[in-house]
Amino acid sequence: MPSPSDFRKAFGLGVEQVLGGAWRITSSSFGHEVKEQNERYEFPASLEVEWTAGSSGGSGGGSKRGADRRRRELEAAWEQQTREKRIVYSAYGSPYECFFVKLPKVTPLDDGGSSYQITALGRAVRRRDIPTLKEERAAERTAAGGAGEVSNEDERRYLSGYRVIKSRFGTSKCSICGQTIDPGVKIAKGKGDTGRGGWAHAICLVQQMKSKAGGGSKQGGRKKTEEEAAEEAGSNSSSSAEERSEAEPPPPKRQRKAAGAAAKGGRSGSGSGRKGGRGGKAAAVAGSQRGSGSGSKAKVGGGAAGQRQRASTRREE
Ligand SMILES: [Zn+2]
Repeated sequence: MPSPSDFRKAFGLGVEQVLGGAWRITSSSFGHEVKEQNERYEFPASLEVEWTAGSSGGSGGGSKRGADRRRRELEAAWEQQTREKRIVYSAYGSPYECFFVKLPKVTPLDDGGSSYQITALGRAVRRRDIPTLKEERAAERTAAGGAGEVSNEDERRYLSGYRVIKSRFGTSKCSICGQTIDPGVKIAKGKGDTGRGGWAHAICLVQQMKSKAGGGSKQGGRKKTEEEAAEEAGSNSSSSAEERSEAEPPPPKRQRKAAGAAAKGGRSGSGSGRKGGRGGKAAAVAGSQRGSGSGSKAKVGGGAAGQRQRASTRREE
């Protein structure tokens, strides 16, 4: 599920944001309801807005007629702001189409037409036709590595100090890209101490070494893995302990160490792994924007980073 705060962000409906050039949002609260796990969620929203005097004429001010006009202007401003559907990603990188389902209820909070309450209902529907962020990464990996498998030449050249085998189980995860390793794919692990990071796709290791050999310029823009994104969200968050406890659990130790160990094992071991990544967030967002290209007209708002999942018992896919 997209987090309520990402839903709100996607539509520009946070406190201090302005609707229609004239209505300042003074309070904004978004709840969430699970309609169908991993498929459909609703976001009941309640906002208060205030007319910012002097922004364009003063048609309201006191009279009943003026106040009615103000309300219609506000409704139009809301419609303008929320008309377009947006794609928002869950913390796990699953795309959801987000929109408001019906006209909002607009209630005056005073007689003068200067402040109103807006109640509205947002909805998020999972889009199975848009690739998840994980799928996008996998596609990138495949594109970068040809068939997605390391060549014999690269294997000889880069992986002589590694154990290289074909994986037999589809359960463990690559210590570099974080994805599940499919059976039959070549995986590699350093010998001795350098192997502590665990198994990685042979192709991922080779790509990592190649990018290091090339000056490491790519590393700043390396995309964060899901776990890193979730972890960062958790550690930067000032939210309540309750919310934090519902965030994605930290990756297993083995995997955490992986990036560091891989850096040590690599040739010029700096800047690998999570240290590479302040640019990661931007990359994640850039990634989400690409997602909007595939068959969806909806605008993209909010990346995977910083999203948290609340009130979900079953792990979202
Ligand atoms: Zn990998």
